[in-house]
Amino acid sequence: MKIWEKNIRKVVPYVPGEQPKGEKLIKLNTNENPYPPAPGVQRALQEMDCDAFRKYPDPAATILVEALAREHSVKPEQIFVGVGSDDVLAMAFLTFFNSDKPLLFPDVTYSFYKVWADLFQIPYETPKLDEEFRIRIEDYQRENGGIIFPNPNAPTGLAEPLSFVEEMLKSNPDSIVIVDEAYVDFGGESAIALLEQYENLLVVQTFSKSRSMAGIRIGYAIGSPSLIRALNDVKYSYNSYTMNLPSQILGAEALKDRAYFEASTHKIIQTRERAKLRLKELGFVFPDSSANFIFARHPQVSAEELFLALKEKQIYVRYFKQERLSEYLRITIGTDEEMEQFFAFLEAYLAQK
Ligand SMILES: *Cc1c(COP(=O)(O)O)cnc(C)c1O
Repeated sequence: MKIWEKNIRKVVPYVPGEQPKGEKLIKLNTNENPYPPAPGVQRALQEMDCDAFRKYPDPAATILVEALAREHSVKPEQIFVGVGSDDVLAMAFLTFFNSDKPLLFPDVTYSFYKVWADLFQIPYETPKLDEEFRIRIEDYQRENGGIIFPNPNAPTGLAEPLSFVEEMLKSNPDSIVIVDEAYVDFGGESAIALLEQYENLLVVQTFSKSRSMAGIRIGYAIGSPSLIRALNDVKYSYNSYTMNLPSQILGAEALKDRAYFEASTHKIIQTRERAKLRLKELGFVFPDSSANFIFARHPQVSAEELFLALKEKQIYVRYFKQERLSEYLRITIGTDEEMEQFFAFLEAYLAQK
């Protein structure tokens, strides 16, 4: 090994879901929204003045921060925005988890948490979810250097009520608790309601799922002004201009159309509830999802074989070849037409088994 090679940071990167190319494929593998963003976003994009691109963007992303503050009835000083919630979460790990005590997050959860903890050399422990994939609150009632969990959790889709989040906060007055609400708009209860009482709470949300803008990369955190100030100090020590001008404009635009947002999330929830009934009829078992995906297994069918058979027919779902997960498929909720084709395949597949 060359001397300089010893100085290279070694990390095992996060592996995102496949982005296959092609026209007719059915993509139910990365929890994207099957519907387009609000129509105002398309209009704003067409009217965008490219001359403005000459200048650096507003590093504070003021138009977007102010629109988010109005949307969530908080002060602008309580909002931090980033390039997707992955960027926001990475900044939050760097800013808040500097203890010698372990950061705690569930064994089955968003697999990026482990990657950031390794990258930033944060000690961590991953208490096991119970048999039903529920977070056991007792595991988080001990000394720790911080807590993070998604609510609803991924890839299970299980949501915990606000009373659970509050108990977590009550048990951990000396830790920063981050609730990752990437899927909250599909049926979860947001912890934003607890922000006034808990200064150590940070809520993270994204435009990638419920607002159909994964490609534009907008995420944000809401918390007490002191937490947001700390996040901004770290961000400005790293890269001031993370968020480009079009993202700031299009994000603010998306927030104007509440009716569209509610209608499209409602449509996905209804499709999900119908999908649960169909899956049950076909013999699948799954935790009761409050997200835009269902994490399902079939007692008589190999998940890996089914995954490959679906892929052959250009139907993509997510398969995790991992302990506790390898019997399951994570199926993103698509349009009704896409789900119809997915179920037609499943019926034929199970009939010839
Ligand atoms: C999708 C997802 C994110 C990241 O989404 P961004 O596209 O980076 O905003 C964060 N947490 C969870 C649990 C997710 O599923």
